Formats: sequence, C-alpha cells, structure tokens
Amino acid sequence: MNIAEEIKKRRTFAIISHPDAGKTTLTEKFLLYGGAINLAGTVKGRKGAKHAVSDWMEIEKERGISVTSSVLQFNYDGFCINILDTPGHQDFSEDTYRTLMAADSAVMVIDGSKGVEAQTIKLFKVCVMRHIPIFTFVNKMDREARDPFELMDEIEEVLGIRTCPVNWPIGCGREFKGVYDRFKETITTFRAAMNGQKEVEATEVQLGDTQVDALIGESFHRQLMDDIELLDGASDELDMDRVSRGDLSPVFFGSALTNFGVETFLQHFLKMTTSPLPRLTTTGVVDPFEEEFSAFVFKIQANMNKAHRDRIAFMRIVSGKFDAGMEVNHVQGGKKLRLSQPQQLMAQDRKIVEEAYAGDIIGVFDPGIFSIGDTLCKSGEKFEYEGIPTFAPEHFARVRQMDTMKRKQFIKGVNQIAQEGAIQIFQEFNTGMEEIIVGVVGELQFEVLTYRLENEYNVEVRLEKLPYEYIRWIENKDEVDVAKIQGTSDMKRIKDLKDNPLLLFVNNWSVGMVLERNPGLKLSEFGHN
Ligand code: GDP
Repeated sequence: MNIAEEIKKRRTFAIISHPDAGKTTLTEKFLLYGGAINLAGTVKGRKGAKHAVSDWMEIEKERGISVTSSVLQFNYDGFCINILDTPGHQDFSEDTYRTLMAADSAVMVIDGSKGVEAQTIKLFKVCVMRHIPIFTFVNKMDREARDPFELMDEIEEVLGIRTCPVNWPIGCGREFKGVYDRFKETITTFRAAMNGQKEVEATEVQLGDTQVDALIGESFHRQLMDDIELLDGASDELDMDRVSRGDLSPVFFGSALTNFGVETFLQHFLKMTTSPLPRLTTTGVVDPFEEEFSAFVFKIQANMNKAHRDRIAFMRIVSGKFDAGMEVNHVQGGKKLRLSQPQQLMAQDRKIVEEAYAGDIIGVFDPGIFSIGDTLCKSGEKFEYEGIPTFAPEHFARVRQMDTMKRKQFIKGVNQIAQEGAIQIFQEFNTGMEEIIVGVVGELQFEVLTYRLENEYNVEVRLEKLPYEYIRWIENKDEVDVAKIQGTSDMKRIKDLKDNPLLLFVNNWSVGMVLERNPGLKLSEFGHN
C-alpha cells in the first residue's frame, strides 16, 4: 500500500464524556466490531488492571488509575482508527485537554438519563475552540432515558451547538426496540447476544415495510411516525459543511452495553469524517498527504521508569510517513536528531513502531529536549505548527519549600514539572519568585507535584490551597494598566513566568462583573504562549 492510501484510511478522534457516561464501554465495543477483541468485557478490567502494567508512580499504583492518557489503534472495514483516550475522574488534567489538540474530530458520549454533564461541557469548549466536528452518541438507551427531543434541546441550549439526529430511538429501557435511520429510512431492530459480550443481531427493514408492526409493535410504530414528522419539520438539515466546522452535531442513539446502535454509529461516523486534516504552520498549511514527515508534540509523560528521568514525548504525525531511525529536524531545539525508541501505545501495551503515517500518534524517548507544542519535520525544513494553548487551571495552591537551603532544587523541579505541562506556575503580581502559586486542571496533580518534588528532587514542600477557581488571561494586556483594573473583592492579580498578567477569581460571576466595570478589557479562558 502506498503512503497516500495508508493516510487516506486513517481516522483519528477523541471520545469525550462525563465519567460513567460509557466512554470505556463504547470504545471496547468499537474494538469488538473491529475484531481487535473477541469478547467484550475483556478490556473492561482495563481500569483496574492498569496499575499492573505500569510501573509509573506510586500514586498510580495506589489508586489504580492512569495519570496520563493513551491511544488505541484498530482496524475496521478497511479503516485504520486511532482513538485518543481523554481521562476523566480524578486523573482529569491538562493532558485531557491537550489530547484534543491531536484529534481531528470528537465523539461526545452522553448518558441518555442524565443529559449534558459538567465534564462534557469543559471538553466540548476545547473542541469548539478548534472547530472540529463533534458527533453525539446518546448512550444507555436500554435504561429509562429522558425524552429524546428534550435531550436535543438541552444539547443545543447548554452547549450552543445545533443538532441533527441521524438515527432516532424506538422506545427506551426494556422497550428499546432499535433505531430508525432518518436518511436511509430504515428501521433496525436488535437482539442482544450474551449480554452485549458479542456482536448484536440486527434486522433491518424499510419504514414502509409490512413487517414494521410485527417488529416494533403498533404503538411504537405510531409514535415513530409522529416523531419523524416532528423531526422533519423542526430539525436542522444535515449540512456536512456545518458539521465539519463544528457548528452542527450529528446525533445518534444507542446502547454501548447491549451493542444496540453501536455498529450503525461507527459506520456513519467513518463515512462522515475525513482522513487526517491539514494543519496550519508558520509558513502556511501542511497537507497530510505530503510525503515529507512532520509532527508536533502534544503531550510529555515523565518518568515512566522511575530509575531514570526519562520522558516520553507524544506526537501527532501531521504529514507523510515516519520510519524508525529517520533523521528529523527538531525546529524549536534547532537540532537534527534521530527519534529513538518510537513506540505506539495500544491501550497499555507498548510496541515499537517501524513505520507510522499522518494521523497516527507515536511516543518517542525524550532526554529532556522537547516541550509541548514543538514541531518535528524533515531535516532541512523549518516551520512551526500552531502552538498548543494553555488551559485554565481550576485549582490553585501556594507552594512553600520546607528547607530554604534547597532553593535551587526546588526551582529546578517546579520548572521541569511545569515544562512537561503537569502544572502551571505563577507568581504574585508585585513580587518575584519568593512565593510560587501553582495552578492545576485536576487536583490529583497537586499530589503528583508533592510526590515528585520529594522523590526526584529531594525537596519537601507544603501546599496551602487557595480558594480561586477561575483564571483569565488578559488578551489585550498591552492596552490595559493591570494595576488599575477595577476588581471585585475576590479578584487576585498574578503573573506567569513570562510576566504575563492574569486574574484569579473565587466566583464565576465576578469575571462578568470585572468585564462590566472595565470597558475594553478582554479576558480569555485560554492562554497562548
Ligand atoms: P466511562 O467512565 O465513561 O468510561 O464509563 P464506562 O464505560 O466505564 O461505564 C460506566 C458504567 O455504565 C459501567 O457500569 C457500564 O457497564 C455502564 N454502561 C455503559 N454503557 C451502558 C449502556 O449502554 N447501558 C447501560 N445500562 N449501562 C451502561
């Protein structure tokens, strides 16, 4: 197969959801349909088994969770699919957001009984910022679910995206019969096999078929006809241009647990998404089908092996083909180098890769030279991919070292950990580095910081949590006198290490208040380095 064909069959997406909506289950069912596993339920132990294969930090072992995210690759129907995992629960961190920078589209899994939940909203905002297509899978239809029309309204209102149902549920809970495909005008009913451990048996008939009543019952048939009429009158058209810009989300209903609607979804999704997308650089757009290799680093994972200060830099290949041992130009480092020990992560199994293509994610051994957002390209070339934004931390703490004699190690440790992107460091607005304020996206990162400073840098620290939860970058900092901003009582001025001013707030409404009191002030939830 030539390079172009390899690239063409690739699809790289992230699944976003609130914890427990069914992201893991849906991913596993994709693997089942892709033939990567035989019996669903075997990956399910993944969460619990993670600590067994990872010898990374003690915290990971104790909690049985993975501190960083990984990627899964499998084949289905001629496609090569890369699913980026976006960790939730306590391991929610800035990495979860950064992962979305490597995806070309996102699948948003929503629990049909709960609707749009907090973490979905956060991840959704990042997808919107990137204008990537967002596909909605309303899951758990085998349980009592909320009215599908009401769910559509909620998605549109809370997330501010238009929706277009591609299929529509027929009943729910025990009476979840199947789905109606609005574009093929077919009804598909399912019969579960082995509690969803095996692929489901499906029967498909045309809407006008005489069997419909027998298949779904007269009353569901009537209800469906009413729903179709309502939908055709009220819902947006499936405009693929709007989908590709992220203005319109195609919506699907199903049950990952029983496999109802899973394969239908996967087939539509693969048809509606594109192969790897071009990306913007300092010298113009790079087309994925260009033969020359290029990639950008979106995540750095530290100390997989505790004995060394190794890091793994994860990169998304944007164009061309990667061959193990090839020489590349590390643009920000200004050096030519060979990428060593390139590996691909299949869930928790690592394998050394010989070749990879645009759309794929690889991890390479990093002796401490890479930073998040760095570009690698064919040696001799020089351009940079668009930077990766800094995402708003939600937890803040003042960090003090216990032994003032270890000042140097402390500063070094905090800086290195910040460079990997696990934490963000700030200073008081008017003073220097005497006091450090650390901001994190997920609270677990505080533990990671304390643990690593102690174990890797031999520095004991004390954390004093601060009450702030909202941070805003000042977009027009050159036009504003930060000291003169009319604040609220809960507002605090800080600066980052590059002296960029930022504002911290305890309450969200104060953000609006400050904007109101200071006409012309522009605040942003994302920072750009
Ligand atoms: P994640 O946290 O989003 O990865 O969620 P999981 O996939 O781990 O699922 C959370 C719980 O919901 C588990 O107990 C699953 O068995 C269950 N679950 C997932 N999908 C479905 C579904 O379609 N129907 C029902 N009834 N339960 C589901």
